[in-house]
Amino acid sequence: MADVTIVGGGTAGLFLARELKTKGISSVVYEEHKELGKPIHDTGILSKNLDEFIDFHKKITLNKVKGARFYSPSGKVVELTRKEDEAYILDRDKLEKELAKGIDVELGKRVENLNFKSKYIIGADGTRSTVAKLAGFPEIETWLLGLQYEIPNEGTHEKDFVELYFGREFSPGFFAWIVPTDKRLRVGLAVNGNAKEFLDKFVKAKLGKVEILETIGGLIPMRWRSQFVKENVALVGDAAGQVKPTTGGGIYIGMASARILASAIAKNDLNFYEAEWYEKIMPELEHGLKIRNFLNMLSDREIDKIFDLLQNEKIRKIILEHGDMDKPSKLVKAVLGNPELLIGYLPFLKYLW
Ligand SMILES: Cc1cc2nc3c(=O)[nH]c(=O)nc-3n(C[C@H](O)[C@H](O)[C@H](O)COP(=O)(O)OP(=O)(O)OC[C@H]3O[C@@H](n4cnc5c(N)ncnc54)[C@H](O)[C@@H]3O)c2cc1C
Repeated sequence: MADVTIVGGGTAGLFLARELKTKGISSVVYEEHKELGKPIHDTGILSKNLDEFIDFHKKITLNKVKGARFYSPSGKVVELTRKEDEAYILDRDKLEKELAKGIDVELGKRVENLNFKSKYIIGADGTRSTVAKLAGFPEIETWLLGLQYEIPNEGTHEKDFVELYFGREFSPGFFAWIVPTDKRLRVGLAVNGNAKEFLDKFVKAKLGKVEILETIGGLIPMRWRSQFVKENVALVGDAAGQVKPTTGGGIYIGMASARILASAIAKNDLNFYEAEWYEKIMPELEHGLKIRNFLNMLSDREIDKIFDLLQNEKIRKIILEHGDMDKPSKLVKAVLGNPELLIGYLPFLKYLW
């Protein structure tokens, strides 16, 4: 019998199993699908911070991007580019497949109850976590529906940039994206509403008639659960709502959380997981949540005004120096440390109260 039962063979569950193995703790991962990584879970865009957790990104990266082009509701463009590569676009299912090497995974096994004899049971089974329901954890209260098409890149889009589109027309409460892989574009958005209607409208407006090669979708938690440890059961990854509210990215945060959980299991103290998570991870997510709430309160006209302010060279320099997809606190601190930059933002301060 394994020491730890992990329900869900996504990135959080598999990475946890790997971390446990390095500590000499046995685990078994139950995954309901017959193949890891399928259906594809997401866009697979990750900052270089991914290298904190894996040493095989070269094997699974389809493309690397140097920056992003941001589009305002009225079509203003802000480009933020660094000289070096900024993020990886992964050949997505390969991440799960590589993570699972050397791990005990039972495929095609859907878990419906918690009758396991192992010392710990971990729910790494996504936003709609069965483990969370069975163990009686509090609900994830806010989430969005993410939807993405993969289409051929007919040479219309450079491979060096992702494109992010803001505004209520295409993605109220979030943004729409166009992400280039080696030969394709991943085009998607997240909304609290009919995602297909919004995505079809977006694709028609920005790309015209396209051939859809693949469609993926899922719930994206916008806030972590208020509790994710109960006796010998813990949740990790999307199951715990451990996702960045700014971008909806959950792979990096899920792995960072799984690393803490593995240490807690090694210490035989699941409470260490929650305590350490609140100290090390939550502050970044809280910064992200404030940014998300702030953006969501702005009208399209106000978002356009922010784009005007972003033309300021000094602000762009600070963003490029301190911006980090996974750690928004660095940028917030840098901006707050330059009060003269805040003058332009005074009209928006009302939203921070
Ligand atoms: C459209 C979209 C685009 C996204 N893009 C990105 C991105 O570019 N970068 C990023 O970092 N994040 C992105 N995300 C978020 C990212 O997909 C998740 O945060 C990440 O997949 C969470 O990993 P996880 O292992 O916690 O959960 P999941 O990936 O949801 O894995 C859970 C696993 O548990 C299995 N499972 C569920 N219930 C059971 C059960 N009862 N028994 C057995 N197995 C079960 C499921 O089959 C699944 O394999 C995106 C999400 C969406 C919807």
